[in-house]
Amino acid sequence: MDCFGGVRHLLFSYVLINGILITLQTKEEVLLDMRATGGELGWLTWPLDQGDRPGWEVVQRTLNGSQFYSYSVCNIGEREQDNWLRTTFIQRRSSASRVFVELQFIVRDCNSFDGASLTCKETFNLYTSESDADVGMTFRKGQFKKVSTIAPDEITSKNKMRINTETRVVENLSRNGFYLAFQDIGACVALLSVRVYYKTCPETIKSLASFPETVAGGENQALQEVSGKCVENAISEELPRIYCTADGEWVVPVGQCQCKPGYEEAEDSCQECQPGFFKAEASSGKCDPCPAHSQGPEPGALFCPCDAGFYRAASDPITGPCSGLPSAPRDLVATTTQLSAGKLLLTWKNPEDTGGRDDITYGVKCQRCEDSVCQACGEKIRYEPANTGLTDTKVLVSELDAHLNYTFTVEAHSGVSEFAGQAPPSSSALTTSLHFTEPPKITTVRMVEQSPTSLSLSWDVAPRPRAPSQPIRYKLTYRKKDDKIDNILIVQKLEKSSVQINNLTPGTAYLFMVQAISSDGSPGSSSPEEQFDTLPEGYLPHNKTAVILAAAAGGATVLFIVLVVLFLRRRRRNSHTRQGPEDTCFSSPEQLKPLTYVDPHTYEDPNIAVLKFATEIHPSHVTKQKVIGAGEFGEVYKGILKAPGRKDVYVAIKTLKPGYTEKQRQDFLSEASIMGQFTHQNIIHLEGVVTKFKHAMIVTEYMENGALDRYLKDHDGEFSSFQLVGMLRGIAAGMKYLSDMSYVHRDLAARNILVNNSLECKVSDFGLSRVLEDDPEGTYTTSGGKIPIRWTAPEAIAYRKFTSASDVWSFGIVMWEVMAFGERPYWDMSNHEVMKAINEAFRLPAPMDCPSAVYQLMLQCWLQDRSKRPRFGDIVSLLDKLLHSPESLKAIADFDPRVSIRLPSTSGSDGSPFRSVSEWLESIKMSQYIENFTCAGVLTMDQVLQMKNEDIKNIGVRLPGHLKRIAYSILGLKDQTSTLSVFAV
Ligand code: AMP
Repeated sequence: MDCFGGVRHLLFSYVLINGILITLQTKEEVLLDMRATGGELGWLTWPLDQGDRPGWEVVQRTLNGSQFYSYSVCNIGEREQDNWLRTTFIQRRSSASRVFVELQFIVRDCNSFDGASLTCKETFNLYTSESDADVGMTFRKGQFKKVSTIAPDEITSKNKMRINTETRVVENLSRNGFYLAFQDIGACVALLSVRVYYKTCPETIKSLASFPETVAGGENQALQEVSGKCVENAISEELPRIYCTADGEWVVPVGQCQCKPGYEEAEDSCQECQPGFFKAEASSGKCDPCPAHSQGPEPGALFCPCDAGFYRAASDPITGPCSGLPSAPRDLVATTTQLSAGKLLLTWKNPEDTGGRDDITYGVKCQRCEDSVCQACGEKIRYEPANTGLTDTKVLVSELDAHLNYTFTVEAHSGVSEFAGQAPPSSSALTTSLHFTEPPKITTVRMVEQSPTSLSLSWDVAPRPRAPSQPIRYKLTYRKKDDKIDNILIVQKLEKSSVQINNLTPGTAYLFMVQAISSDGSPGSSSPEEQFDTLPEGYLPHNKTAVILAAAAGGATVLFIVLVVLFLRRRRRNSHTRQGPEDTCFSSPEQLKPLTYVDPHTYEDPNIAVLKFATEIHPSHVTKQKVIGAGEFGEVYKGILKAPGRKDVYVAIKTLKPGYTEKQRQDFLSEASIMGQFTHQNIIHLEGVVTKFKHAMIVTEYMENGALDRYLKDHDGEFSSFQLVGMLRGIAAGMKYLSDMSYVHRDLAARNILVNNSLECKVSDFGLSRVLEDDPEGTYTTSGGKIPIRWTAPEAIAYRKFTSASDVWSFGIVMWEVMAFGERPYWDMSNHEVMKAINEAFRLPAPMDCPSAVYQLMLQCWLQDRSKRPRFGDIVSLLDKLLHSPESLKAIADFDPRVSIRLPSTSGSDGSPFRSVSEWLESIKMSQYIENFTCAGVLTMDQVLQMKNEDIKNIGVRLPGHLKRIAYSILGLKDQTSTLSVFAV
């Protein structure tokens, strides 16, 4: 008997779902097949002993030429027949709870038996009984439940045999197996075939999901929900589902798997896109051919990388075409009709080739040149409507100084310019032919009038040929001749070439010096110091004395003259007092800037120091706009200062967070007390403080480009040595000013230099506690102080000897940071390693591309003997010299790529060679070029090592700084045998 290895049948049927005809396959698993078993059925018949009226009997038959066994019974004419035929134990398999019983049988027509029609039956009954185990020959009628009465559709007569086929369902099966039984109640029946089977929904793949074979009607469910699994390389958000009907049919598929990016559907599976095709998303669609100016050399591409020289903007879809850079704008013309008013109209034409894009904008750059030394024009110049992001091909430039030469460059940008490094500038740069003049110079200073307590002075300015008539201002400095040099008083911002100074000490010699300042803020040379004396106490002014002498000689007429002179003098005095405080007096504390820095701690009450050195601002004049940084005491905001009678200015606002102690408030404000003492172009300017209200604030000028270290990192390779040295010159000038005022900064580092949008660098961070608390670089020393080790001179680390000479050491480190575009000094060496190396006379090596003269200056700043280090005055002079002869910057210091590019550049992070081109590019911070390398087919490090400078350029690395960084790194990779060393001096 074949119960278990049953014959499998596949049946096909069709279902309409949502109007779509779906082919469904059903599979049958046969549990019992009487016909296939042959003669040895071994079914049980009951009653066991039936004498000469046998019940069910095995009969061998021949049908269509083949022999088979059947069970027959034919006890007609006998009353009360009750003959049972029971199958062997049928194991229920899987979870089939619903089986089909298909019967083939013949029933004889009762009418064909003479005289037996009264008792003769033409039906029989199907029973079933469940059991967990085979009960063998035990048979109890009462345990069987009736399934159905089986009646023939066609009855078999004497002449004609009719075979009937009936199928019945036995449901709700739950035990290990079951028996079927056939009860005859007096019919003439031949049971030709009994087939017991259950149905399954066969394993299938639909909508790119595979569904396992599932027993139909299992778990007593007419419709069984089955979850599928996406085929390989297909995905779906929700698992697809389908239902298996009780008849073994899959119906109502829900959800769909889709081939993942880089794959497309092909006959129930997902195949990689062919080379030259791509698919960016999971979808049912096909792979698309690579769009214009891109290529996909590998199969399975998610997108097609751009051809060399073509790019996609960040907002371009990755599936879209790549575009080239726009060519330069054409025909740049300057119209100088309003030059006298410092205005100029620049116009130009669209580039010939837009690179296939329509997002072209223009940027205008201005350089101011003197003696062939050029620098950025600075923020003073105004552009209408703007100097960047222009969509129109013109711009009005104003606030130009008529005595300087300007060069304007117009660049065309498009969405892809940022990826190409640099936009091509306009084909022609425009130079205005405007002339240059010397800064104003004071020739003579003379005394106009004297009294015991006042002196009136006036002075002359040297005529400046070709100079425009610009307003000049003057700075007057004076002191008592016998006083110490640091008791100098300054009267600033004089607008006229004369002044009267009151409240002087009678009979005292004073020394005066005048300096002219041109309207762009550039100072002229100072006059020599001139001495003028006040008259002794009780002395009449000398013109009065003359009058008295004349009176002695002249009588009443002369008395009249005296009266006239006195009248005239009073009038002159009155006219002086009308000139306003700036011109005549120095009673405002703001104008009395000490020439030596005063430590606010020397004031018993630090609040008084703040009042003395800083202007109080009403908080209603300060508007905070957005947070730009985090200071030690609270947030730093960008904002606007609207002081009455002044133009609105952008400012940085340092705030004191709530919950501060009085000590913290005083420490916070001490920075303003210090900053307020300084007036210099390269020192961050204090606008004022808010101290009289709950929320204390320090308001300073706003520096658009923020901290220098971050700014340089973000613009790596984008500035020339000339520009970098220009920045250093500014920092050095600021430091010279501080050291002249005997102020020691102690925390000079690129992170404490701020940059505005004219690239002017200004020294900042003057908090009293800053070195101890504020600086994240600060490291505790054994004496408990906190010191930024890698910026600090050895004597300051060793025994806290902080001087301007130790500031010079730090300046040397700032020089290195600047020339290395914000690289961390000593890279990832530990503080301990740094101190050890310095003690052993090692010094940082020259950064890449660093002019030799600049590196020499660094090494001078790092001399162990602090008295041998240059002073800030020397540094400013030297840097000025370099800037005045840019040729001097051409000689480049020796550079060793193995030490100057970050250490890992010679190997992968674990010391092994780089595993991929992208890993290598990331390590040298050039990952923006990964696509360029890929597109150019440079896919392995072996290929990288073969590259020449020309090749690097050809794959689209244009910025000279980047080109060198990559080339040097390759050089370093080739020579891996060398070990790291820091230069010894
Ligand atoms: P500080 O407390 O001075 O170190 O300031 C914290 C951060 O605020 C700095 O690193 C700058 O990013 C920013 N910041 C401070 N002052 C200014 C300023 N005057 N202009 C622009 N940003 C500033």
